[in-house]
Amino acid sequence: MANTNDNSAICPHCGAEIQVDHEFCPECGELLAENVLCHRHSSKPASGVCIVCRLPFCSDCGGRVQNRFLCEEHDTLEIFEGMARVFGSSNAVEVEFAKTSLETAGLHPFVFSRKANPISLGAPEYTLYRSSGEYDGHIVNEFKLMVPCQEVQTAEKKLRELRFIK
Ligand SMILES: [Zn+2]
Ligand SMILES: [Zn+2]
Ligand SMILES: [Zn+2]
Repeated sequence: MANTNDNSAICPHCGAEIQVDHEFCPECGELLAENVLCHRHSSKPASGVCIVCRLPFCSDCGGRVQNRFLCEEHDTLEIFEGMARVFGSSNAVEVEFAKTSLETAGLHPFVFSRKANPISLGAPEYTLYRSSGEYDGHIVNEFKLMVPCQEVQTAEKKLRELRFIK
């Protein structure tokens, strides 16, 4: 791990700048501390930290999705460039309202829409994905409310309170 200054270091996995005393890289979930055990299996060493729930998991309970470590529960999230979908609707007004609510709560939401994204129109690079195998359950033509992965749990709690999601 190369030091850039006294308090920061570079993640050996993804190259993100992190605090030296961090036990894992918040960007990719690389485990930086030693002797960490799986949250679910107290006998198995953790192989990474889920960047959504921030808990350590073994290789049976989690894995890397395009270089980011996610647990089984969270690898079904649609993730696009470090942002995860927390809500989606064909109603743009509804999604904007949800976005404003999350902004008010101090989060950093972003609305992703293929319709509103002319650069990607007609191109095959619709890149929201999940980790394991083929999955065609993603709705392409909706407005997707995305938040940074580490804000997913707070955002879902807020959206549940406001009854956007169950
Ligand atoms: Zn990293
Ligand atoms: Zn998780
Ligand atoms: Zn495990």
